Amino acid sequence: MVFAIKAGLLIDGNGGEPIENATILIEGKTITAVGRAERVEIPGGAEIVDASDKTVMPGLIDSHVHIMTNSASLEQRLFTPKAVSYFQAADNLKRTLRAGFTTIRDGGEADAGLRQSLEMGLISGPRLVVSGCIGQTGGLLEKRYPSGSQIVNEDSWRICDGVEDVRKTVRKVLREGVDFVKIFATGGVVAPQGSPFISEWTPSELAVIVEEASRCGAGVMAHAESNVGIKNALCAGVTSIEHGYVLDQEAIDLFLGKGVFLVPTLHISKVLSERRDTAGLSEVSKRKKERLVQEQEGCFRRACQAGVKVALGTDAFIADMHGTNAVELSLMMEEGGLSAMEAIVAGTRNAAECCLLGDQVGTLEAGKLADILLVDGDPLADIKVLQDPKRITVYKEGSVVIR
Ligand SMILES: [Zn+2]
Repeated sequence: MVFAIKAGLLIDGNGGEPIENATILIEGKTITAVGRAERVEIPGGAEIVDASDKTVMPGLIDSHVHIMTNSASLEQRLFTPKAVSYFQAADNLKRTLRAGFTTIRDGGEADAGLRQSLEMGLISGPRLVVSGCIGQTGGLLEKRYPSGSQIVNEDSWRICDGVEDVRKTVRKVLREGVDFVKIFATGGVVAPQGSPFISEWTPSELAVIVEEASRCGAGVMAHAESNVGIKNALCAGVTSIEHGYVLDQEAIDLFLGKGVFLVPTLHISKVLSERRDTAGLSEVSKRKKERLVQEQEGCFRRACQAGVKVALGTDAFIADMHGTNAVELSLMMEEGGLSAMEAIVAGTRNAAECCLLGDQVGTLEAGKLADILLVDGDPLADIKVLQDPKRITVYKEGSVVIR
């Protein structure tokens, strides 16, 4: 089936000037032509979708979510049976799609089976990119407490040390059909031990992770919150740095030299700061968060000004964050000084490339999959129109999925 969308304003995701009165031709799942209305001939018999009073843009992409997770509280997670997590994920996926997000990359818990369920049409949601986590002894992934107690989950919290053990564990993760290996190059706020200011893995362990992942065509997403760990991960050649809160000039220069994406996850940072006492964080975590907030001041803005490539990622892992992913666009503008167009590029083309899907989605160009939003309003004039699902019609692969 061929159809044409007549766009009042077209934002193609590449960051150039928007086009007034444009036409997009779609055949089956794929865009076949895009351009000024007078330059795109609509074949006879094609259905016409009139969006001449709307903005038409690529489906948004969140390159860091936890679609299976609904709370920062470890206790709440431990009391949630796996089956419940999957049904919650199905609901979160639906809300995320309704918010105009047609692709997401999960930072750890979602597996290839959830991705397959979406592809089979058993559930509806964005295209899902999945990752498998590995961590080191004493690192963020290990749930060991000062009492000496430890929570072990060998399916999703795999701990390994030393080059050969790490190599074997990466291979086990990849065997499960994930698209990315998720690692932790520094500690974090939520873990009982470690710190965002302590680096994890040795450079040779990091190198073997990247070597094994790339051999299988998989990417590496590296949680890294401060300088040393960020630099180690960048030198090892990871695909993206998640969080990257505390950055010095040397780290920024490395980002630029390597062309690696920074996924700033400003939304979770804001939520955890604002809901200090209700988000389910332990006292230890709250103290870590406080120091981080002080030290990260101004870092994201300096990175943006220097021209570091930014990809939208919210780190949504609290129930009400799923489906409010577009808040990240406003935060990138407020905290990084990005223009509305730059924020949109971060949430479309850049995020697609960051998910290793740049050849398939992220821009409105001939040959790409027809993941398209019709937006009631102009996001370049007011980015917040994208936070209102009622204003958005969502096409995924050429079909209307949310009207
Ligand atoms: Zn995360």
